[in-house]
Amino acid sequence: MARLKYNKKRLLQILMAGRGEVKLEDNALREMVRCYESCACWDGIIDGLEFLLEDDPHDHWILVQVAHAYYEKECNEKALKYITAAMRVQYECAAAQWLLAAILRMRGQHADALEIWETLITNGASQMAQGKCICCREYYSWGTRKIADAKYMLSLTNSDLGYMSQARYWRDAYRLDLEEGAESMMDGSFLDREIERNGG
Ligand SMILES: [Zn+2]
Repeated sequence: MARLKYNKKRLLQILMAGRGEVKLEDNALREMVRCYESCACWDGIIDGLEFLLEDDPHDHWILVQVAHAYYEKECNEKALKYITAAMRVQYECAAAQWLLAAILRMRGQHADALEIWETLITNGASQMAQGKCICCREYYSWGTRKIADAKYMLSLTNSDLGYMSQARYWRDAYRLDLEEGAESMMDGSFLDREIERNGG
């Protein structure tokens, strides 16, 4: 995996520029994280952001980003540690809840994961993108994507558990979201293969 040039220096520049006045959710910081995400450079996010937590261990947005990076690296215990810390700061964060569900699924806590995703779907895309957590607010289109992705995960998790009618139900719901314009990054053919492997 191509790794972006290490950008700790740039992070420090962003912080030093404001001498404490620049919020950590500064747009430049967000853009950098998105840049790392787009190339799946999870170590870049971890290396870049973990040290910022030394100054402010309760920065919710940074905790969520680091938890996400560890999740993508399948370091589930570390991911859980950071998402737990993030949720202690802001429990009603839909982005953190979504990620918590994914981490719980990886730890085999399927029922808990299903419950969280179902609640997020019930609450809808607006709540997902522009709910109570101000620092994690995103565009509405991001909310529609995360809701579609939650349906994908519900299908996959139900398939894991052998609940095939539920797996098919949520796959159909996921596909409908795509037809309606949701821009999911999930692998639909993988989901099809998993459902087929588990008995259709
Ligand atoms: Zn949040």
